[in-house]
Amino acid sequence: MKGAEVSLDHLFKVFTMPEGKDSKLAQIEQHLSDNLADFLSQHVVTKVKSLEEIEKHFSKSAVPENPEFVSKHAEDLLNKLVANSVNTYSPTFIGHMTSALPYFHLPLAKLLVGLNQNLVKIETSKAFTPLERQVLGMMHELVYKQSDDFYNTYLHSANHALGAFCSGGTLANITALWVARNKALPATTQFKGVAQEGLAAGMVHYGYKKMGIISSKRGHYSLSKAVDILALGRQQMLTIDSPSQRLSPEKALEVGLQYQKEGNKVLAIVGIAGTTETGHIDPLDELADVAKELGCHFHVDAAWGGATLFSNEHGQLLKGIARADSVTLDAHKQMYVPMGAGMVLFKDPNDSNTVRHHAQYILRAGSKDLGATTIEGSRNGMAMMVYASLHIFGRQGYELLINQSIEKTKTFARMIQSHPDFELVTSPTLSLLTYRVNPEEVQQRTKAQPQINHALNMELDKLTVAVQKQQREAGKSFVSRTRLQTEKYPDQAITVFRVVLANPLTTETDLQNILDEQLAIASATKAWKKLCYKHKKAS
Ligand SMILES: *Cc1c(COP(=O)(O)O)cnc(C)c1O
Repeated sequence: MKGAEVSLDHLFKVFTMPEGKDSKLAQIEQHLSDNLADFLSQHVVTKVKSLEEIEKHFSKSAVPENPEFVSKHAEDLLNKLVANSVNTYSPTFIGHMTSALPYFHLPLAKLLVGLNQNLVKIETSKAFTPLERQVLGMMHELVYKQSDDFYNTYLHSANHALGAFCSGGTLANITALWVARNKALPATTQFKGVAQEGLAAGMVHYGYKKMGIISSKRGHYSLSKAVDILALGRQQMLTIDSPSQRLSPEKALEVGLQYQKEGNKVLAIVGIAGTTETGHIDPLDELADVAKELGCHFHVDAAWGGATLFSNEHGQLLKGIARADSVTLDAHKQMYVPMGAGMVLFKDPNDSNTVRHHAQYILRAGSKDLGATTIEGSRNGMAMMVYASLHIFGRQGYELLINQSIEKTKTFARMIQSHPDFELVTSPTLSLLTYRVNPEEVQQRTKAQPQINHALNMELDKLTVAVQKQQREAGKSFVSRTRLQTEKYPDQAITVFRVVLANPLTTETDLQNILDEQLAIASATKAWKKLCYKHKKAS
């Protein structure tokens, strides 16, 4: 049947009545809840296609004129969308920070949509508001470890916020720097504050030429979005070269002092706890000292690495995080919550007041509406997923997960190091590492003649790119790639494979298979032959 008849009667049914147990959508639903892994392996990436081929399924720009039966549409979704999506659940998908989730999120997601609460205001969320505030409090306690009195005072205070829940690390970073900006240009008797009068007036009032943010080159691109949105300008993102992958406190201080000497103001130093590319952690304690000396806000981007605090063994790596004025965390990374769960935490619960907004019909003064201090307006109750996970795993459960990821990554690093045809590029601090294929004979040769590295690195880059692409296209496994400066080659960025070992289901055998597959692909490439042929000719 080509489209259902348009009638209000039909539309009411869409709101109220499922199509019956045998309908396609009901079958999908059943399969999903019976065995998610089986559903995914049956329906996702049924045939690896190019993006251009897939785009053909999504090429019409007109809104469909006629309604369609839900089941018919579900069939379409399966064939066009699900079949061509990415199986992020797969234990061999180890290229990004998105991984398998615990099963309980599936029924919880149904509950979340079923309730459809809007966290912007209490009138549409009721108990979800205190729940979200408690979740922020729990994460605040994990980072800042304040007293019981402190949390009794602030957890549910209408005039304070311990943080803000948002869709992810990007918005968390923007929120943190928004607060920092408004704090840096506060009201005086002649000036109503940057939030009222705007940036230009604020800079004139305080006599600053420019305002900027300091971070290492490994800072997430969301920081550069933040300086753009906050009207500081992308050029005021003062990124510092960090071949060691960690921001040097001495360099940060030097750059900051020089910048301020020229009549500018450092708005914030951003320390990264778990860089997106290599998982390194900046020296947070020392950076807190630098921020103090420069008189600026200290923000820690712990979107990836924050969950390490659950581990008594590895939490020490983040020493100094409690000195940050604000901290970004992403529960949809190492806390295994579905996407859309970011948080920013404020050390001082008054800080959120620098961005507080009111409106007549909601967010009235004195209300506890969460929307008064968040960038987003309407927002779902994702905090419930974090709340459930915190209870179901507990700190100890998360500790086990974090510890096993880090252990597994160290094992993988040893596998790479002991393999003659691979080169470990950055060792794991957390559950990330980078490496590349580098044929044994080439490695032998560069050991003896380090001056030939530059040209060879460019050949090796081509090899790494070719292997990564072919592996992705083959569809069995996935590692990502990036370009990095490292201590070994400080003057030249090299292309590397990037691996994130977050999926608890990834085994050592999976990792061995990935290396084997990469070597098989590599040794059949032109780039490999060229590298080894050149070597033979030279020696
Ligand atoms: C992932 C990540 C972000 C961005 O978070 P989104 O949730 O993707 O918006 C920011 N910083 C770091 C260090 C990250 O790892």
